[in-house]
Amino acid sequence: MNIFKQKEREFALARVKQLKEKFPESRQILDFMERILEFQNRVIEDISEKGIPIDTSEAQGRIKHGKPALNLSSVDWKPFLPYMRELLDIASDIGTEEIKAEADRLRLSSQEELLAQLVNFTEGMETNPIERLLFMAFLQPILYVVSDSVSFKQEAWLKNTCPVCGSKPSVSFLTDTEEWEGGRLLRCSLCLTDWLYIRTKCVECGNNEDDKLDYFVSQDVSYIELQACTQCHRYIKLVDMRKDGLAVPDLEDIASVSLDLWAEGEGYTKVEKNLLGF
Ligand SMILES: [Zn+2]
Ligand SMILES: [Zn+2]
Repeated sequence: MNIFKQKEREFALARVKQLKEKFPESRQILDFMERILEFQNRVIEDISEKGIPIDTSEAQGRIKHGKPALNLSSVDWKPFLPYMRELLDIASDIGTEEIKAEADRLRLSSQEELLAQLVNFTEGMETNPIERLLFMAFLQPILYVVSDSVSFKQEAWLKNTCPVCGSKPSVSFLTDTEEWEGGRLLRCSLCLTDWLYIRTKCVECGNNEDDKLDYFVSQDVSYIELQACTQCHRYIKLVDMRKDGLAVPDLEDIASVSLDLWAEGEGYTKVEKNLLGF
């Protein structure tokens, strides 16, 4: 696996500790997130060492035709189920009462039942928020490794869904790279892939009229902005990496849950909820 990608998740674990100081009101959810990240990093390391039993032979052809590289519902998750069992043990151990109850229920499921539920989830069927959290926490590190072997041309994609897994982004960020200055990238809610998107365009409906896009920034967290669309009433956060170079977009999003509560109060719905359902 690309060393930069692996390091990024190790760095994320260090960042979560800093965020507890920065967002003391989110301490509890960040404690939970820290344990999830520890688990996910173990999975990433393990899968990278053992090799990936996921077929990516059709990936480039699919991308060329504007489809996401992976067709999640055709993946055989069976070899990965031991990780799911490990995650359910952790969730039962450290989760809230609701999480514990759901994890314990899933722990009693047979292998076939678990696989069937996973397939339902990857096919986009409605799940309860805790099931969603558990399945996402399980799939995230696996897909993170797989996404490393998928390449796509940033300027050629520019869609509002992930080029690797087809999911929606839960957060976006601004960054300077060698190729572009102040470019805006979206980060996939499921596999954490980053891809380029027009900065002044609503991620939900594609509206790019200035007077139908509002930007909100709170004084306490000036490096995180909300981009809200008055046409479709959706919003997404914009994390400005140029203001805080240590930011990890998916974690900043989780830590700044107070901004989500505010946006909801203003009548906006997030483009896609993050792992923890905010
Ligand atoms: Zn994805
Ligand atoms: Zn919109």
